[in-house]
Amino acid sequence: MEFCDECGSMMKAEDGIWECGSCGYTEPKGDADQYVITDDQEIGEVIESSGETSLPETDARCPECGNDRAHWYMQQIRAADESETRFFICTECEHKWREDDN
Ligand SMILES: [Zn+2]
Ligand SMILES: [Zn+2]
Repeated sequence: MEFCDECGSMMKAEDGIWECGSCGYTEPKGDADQYVITDDQEIGEVIESSGETSLPETDARCPECGNDRAHWYMQQIRAADESETRFFICTECEHKWREDDN
């Protein structure tokens, strides 16, 4: 915190300077600058695939992103007497959809 040499008001930190909100007096920030901006956080970090998917892969076009590889698995839905349905999970966007074989 800094106070204005001119009028004694509180000064606010601007880019590299202190600026008085009352009279506009400015003063360069000294070595005692405590506003250290740590900028070590990477933006857009690559999301790595977890690799936990053990499902088989096949050629299937994702309706969501157009990717042509997808994991698949069989699952029985609705009544027990119905045949199993194949589901796909896009390897790119993880969109899940049902094979439409009717
Ligand atoms: Zn001032
Ligand atoms: Zn996709």
